[in-house]
Amino acid sequence: MDSIYAPWRIEWVERETDPIDGCPFCVLPERADARDARIVARSDHNYVVLNNAPYNPGHAMVIPDAHVDDWTALGDAAMLDHGRLKAATLAAARRGIEPTGFNTGLNLGGAAAGGSIDHLHTHVVPRWQGDTNFMPVVGDTAVIVEAVDRTYGHLHEAFAADDAVVDAGDADAGDAVRLSFDAGDD
Ligand SMILES: [Zn+2]
Repeated sequence: MDSIYAPWRIEWVERETDPIDGCPFCVLPERADARDARIVARSDHNYVVLNNAPYNPGHAMVIPDAHVDDWTALGDAAMLDHGRLKAATLAAARRGIEPTGFNTGLNLGGAAAGGSIDHLHTHVVPRWQGDTNFMPVVGDTAVIVEAVDRTYGHLHEAFAADDAVVDAGDADAGDAVRLSFDAGDD
């Protein structure tokens, strides 16, 4: 039987060696080193972080800077920016890691929906023909950390090729790629 399930159920983003006090999606963007925080791109109102416990390589989340738990709480500018950054994330993944397809989704309403963090976030999970859950298949933390770091490099480079880039940044220096969707089209 083919199993099509909700890969975005996997919410965990913390590393055991690096505990976070408070909301991780508020804390991570404040860190000086974007690579260490796994933040690969930032726009005017949102950012993209790679999941520390990826369902698949390239498993990313698009997250508003503001701590809100529902779309209705997000202003129009941030909502448009969220959609544009999600589109840029899909495009960067296509360029950088060439998946066959994607699942994208939201967990709203906490545990009932498989979510554990009440800060709005959209999962973007690349899929390949015949893939299976990367975590149980690999099952080795060191391998996963190394894989996430390698994927970070590929996606950073791919985001840097986006038309909306205002600062490509240096991944090794701890800079996320800066994008802005405000310029030129409205
Ligand atoms: Zn938060």
